[in-house]
Amino acid sequence: MKPPPFTYVAATSVAEAVAALAAHDGEAKVIAGGQSLVPMLNFRLLAPAALVDINGIRELDFVDATADGGLRIGALTRHYTLLTSPDVAERFPVLGEAMRHVAHLAIRNRGTIGGSLSHADPAAELPMMVTLLDATLTVAGPGGERQLAAADFFDGALTTVLAEDELLTTITLPPLPQPHGWGFHEFAQRAGDFALAAAAVVLTADDGAAANVRLAVMGVDENPSRIAAAEAALVGQPVSDDTIAAAAAAVREAVDPPEDLHGSATYRRHLVGGLVERAIRDAWARATGNAGGAA
Ligand SMILES: Cc1cc2nc3c(=O)[nH]c(=O)nc-3n(C[C@H](O)[C@H](O)[C@H](O)COP(=O)(O)OP(=O)(O)OC[C@H]3O[C@@H](n4cnc5c(N)ncnc54)[C@H](O)[C@@H]3O)c2cc1C
Repeated sequence: MKPPPFTYVAATSVAEAVAALAAHDGEAKVIAGGQSLVPMLNFRLLAPAALVDINGIRELDFVDATADGGLRIGALTRHYTLLTSPDVAERFPVLGEAMRHVAHLAIRNRGTIGGSLSHADPAAELPMMVTLLDATLTVAGPGGERQLAAADFFDGALTTVLAEDELLTTITLPPLPQPHGWGFHEFAQRAGDFALAAAAVVLTADDGAAANVRLAVMGVDENPSRIAAAEAALVGQPVSDDTIAAAAAAVREAVDPPEDLHGSATYRRHLVGGLVERAIRDAWARATGNAGGAA
């Protein structure tokens, strides 16, 4: 199918894009990589009066290593750039690993971090990564800029708190403790498909005990989330079969998975617990220098 007719605006600055969105009074959509939006237009799930193309806003395409050990990422940064960035690999290897699971090469060449976060698919890797990594998201609107914690950005499946005349511009990742261990596991039915579920863990080993634990899951609720009870099950003790089982049990208890043709809620709950167990084992092995094949 073909999309319904729309007016096309090619913005070359953030101010121009915001002004174009505001001028269309909620009837315009931003187009970035187009990898989610264009299929929705073609299926006529959306019929915006105008598309505001942000691909000409070069100032939104960057990965900057910040002096504090974190990263600032422009919203127009392509998935492929994140996958191949030496700064991502060095500072946030868990993000580098997650990018290996995002779609296929052709989609990674066009899809952007800003598009993925704004689209807010419950089974997408980047919303989970910004939740895990406590990112701050900068948004520009007619009244200026505002900053949002990643945990406050997602508002249900395919929904965010972005207003219709706002543009996501920058993603800031605060530094992780160095050195740290990390683990990421997901299950998808075919390589490149959206995952049925995924789990990611970052932690440090302090005097033989787990510390600075962050554990996030996706695909098992409307939004990705950190699971505080699972983090608490690990903090302050050596990671063992018992603590791993307790953390996985806390995750299974906390989530509310969807039912669909790909799997039942019971199946997804069971699956995510297994992924959590593997992610914790990898993170602990890396943190304690026993990673072997997991390095
Ligand atoms: C076959 C296929 C498989 C895929 N598999 C995966 C997968 O495994 N994992 C995964 O995470 N993704 C997957 N995707 C989606 C892909 O990652 C998309 O690139 C991403 O979801 C959207 O990014 P985009 O830049 O293409 O955004 P677009 O499609 O251009 O836009 C998506 C939405 O975000 C809005 N938007 C875009 N940029 C901004 C901005 N800066 N500010 C405000 N609003 C904005 C648009 O208005 C639109 O509503 C897949 C896509 C396809 C077609």
